[in-house]
Parts: sequence; structure tokens; C-alpha cells
Amino acid sequence: MKWSLSLGKIAGIKIQIHWTFILIILWIIFLNLSRGSTVQETTTAVIFILTIFACVVLHELGHSLMAKRYGVAVKSITLLPIGGVASLEEIPEDPKKELLIAIAGPSVNLIIAGILFLILWAGGRLTIPAGAESFQKLAESSFLYRLLSVNLFLLVFNIIPAFPMDGGRVLRALLSLKMDRVTATSIAASIGQILAIGFAFLGLLSNPFLIVIALFVYLGAQFEAQQVRTGSILADHKVRDVLMHHYTPLNEHETLAKAIDILLDGQEREFVVLDDEDKAVGILTRDNIIKALNERGKEVSISEVMNRDFFSPSPADSLKDVFQKMQQQRFTVLPVIEEDTLKGIIDMENILEFIQVQEVLQREVPHLKRII
Ligand SMILES: [Zn+2]
Repeated sequence: MKWSLSLGKIAGIKIQIHWTFILIILWIIFLNLSRGSTVQETTTAVIFILTIFACVVLHELGHSLMAKRYGVAVKSITLLPIGGVASLEEIPEDPKKELLIAIAGPSVNLIIAGILFLILWAGGRLTIPAGAESFQKLAESSFLYRLLSVNLFLLVFNIIPAFPMDGGRVLRALLSLKMDRVTATSIAASIGQILAIGFAFLGLLSNPFLIVIALFVYLGAQFEAQQVRTGSILADHKVRDVLMHHYTPLNEHETLAKAIDILLDGQEREFVVLDDEDKAVGILTRDNIIKALNERGKEVSISEVMNRDFFSPSPADSLKDVFQKMQQQRFTVLPVIEEDTLKGIIDMENILEFIQVQEVLQREVPHLKRII
């Protein structure tokens, strides 16, 4: 994540804090000082917040270590003011794995709460004298007691089935045992969005942080449901299904002026560049063209400004894998090659159109699913 400060690594996973997290600390300090708290009270408040976030890191480590057990790479854990985010390379499609990864986080809070409970119990500090006033006193005085409450809160809050929060992932995994993943995700996402609207209302009445969380949940549910739908469409197809035969190849010895002519003359924005033997040697995107025009002028040779670092899928490759790789490496166009011959090109915009068409076909006429 951008704008993050690295704190080091635990079990090979980078732990970082987002800069907005600093705002929380400043806010706590401001709140305490403006209330007339002493420096010592303010310091305790800051330490308390940092301890809560340490619990959040442990929660995310719970998810991450379980994910690693199933061979999923974990890039980092980032602390945001609204909680932590573990960046998993992928979420396993096997419902049992997803379920275990999802419950590993809240389980950590349960364990922390259990340990704190035992410590307090052993110290005889759980015996609450009669009267709400003393209860309040106990709650205010005991750092560990408050930490116990926070961990119980984190446990309960995270198991609310608001997909993509942990409880929602558990729900999706359980539904996936009974139905296909696309339907399971769409049901879980709808429930998540309804709950998010509920969070937003509660947030308006109480804590504004809930509104931010509601927004994350709402958009996250929408995004993941779309991703799963897209993934399932792409998994059914090969690169040859989106292969484009009508395109204008550029020769590496031509000048940028030629590329600009074609760019302005029609709809083509992304080009494959060939050498004299018609072998694909580079790709040239609209952004490359504009940048090169700005820096080198239009008489520069295409070979000097094209991108030579690309990969060439074959028509039989899985569309899902190639699409993912294109997204990760930010390719918008690629040559498709079979037995050393250029078969055509694939273009990101075209693949996205293909997905839209497939979505409509699958929704309206299920039996036509495999025609296009
Ligand atoms: Zn979690």
C-alpha cells in the first residue's frame, strides 16, 4: 500500500502502518489534553491504543499464517485507522481453506481475551463489588480489563456476517459447500451490503468510524462479487476466444508519426510492433506514444520507444491466468503466438467487453452460455 511506513517483518510478512494511522495517535493526544488529562494519563491512552493495534496485528497474523499454511503468499499486513489489512495473494477457492483462514483472525482475539481473563481471574480482579459505580471504576482503572473488552469486541465485530469481513467470508465458505461459488458470493455480498447500510446508520447516530467501515464493506462486497463473476466467466474460456484478427501491426523501423496517424485515424490505441520477419518484438500503447512524442518528437523510430518487455500467450492458454497476469503486470495489449507465428492480438478493453457480453448472456439465456 502506498504511503506506508515499514515496521519490519514477522514470519517473512512485512508489517507496515499507513500514514493516516498517525492521525489517530495525534487525535488521541489532542482529545486527552483538551479534556485536561495529565501527561501520564495521555501517555497511558496512547499506549492503550498501540496495544489495541498490536492485537489487530496479531489478528491479521492469524489469517496470514493460516493462509501461508495453505501455500498462499502474504505480501504484507498494513495498519489503517479502521483496522488491519493482510494482503493475501489470492483467496483459496476451496471453502474449507477459506473458512479456516477467515476464522483464524477472530480466534486470535478469543485466545488473547482468554489469556487476559485468566490473568485477571488469577489476580482476583474479576470480582466486581456490588453497584454499577464500582463496576465503572474497575473498568476505568484496569488496563487489562479494558484490553479484554476490546478483544471481545474485535471478536464479535469481526464475526458479523458482513462480507468481505471475516464473518462474511465464513458465510460465503459455508454457502459454497452447498452451491456454486458465484451464487454463494453474490448472496454473501448482498447480505454484506445490507449490513453495511445498517453500519452507516448506526455510525450517523454514534461513531463516525462506522461510516468509513460501512463504505469499505459496501464497496468491498461489490468489488469481490464482480471479481468472482469475472473469474468464473474467464475460467470457462481460452485466449483464442478473445483473439483479435483485425489490427494494424507496426514495423519497428517505422517512425512514431506512423503510430500517431493510426491512433488518430481510428479506434486502435494499443499496438503490437513487428520486425522485418513479422516477429513480434515490442508493444506500443497510447500512453507510450504520447510520452515518447513529448520527449523525443514524432520522427523517432518506434524501436527506440516501444516496450520490449512483454510475454506472448498462446491461443490455448487459460484466459483467466492470462487476464490475471495482464492485470498484475499492467499490460493492455499482447501478441498471441503459436509455433513461432503471430496469430493475432489480445487487448484488455476487448476482454472487458467480452466479460460484459458473457455476463448478459449468462443472466438472460443460461443455455446460450457456451456459444460465444
Ligand atoms: Zn480478520
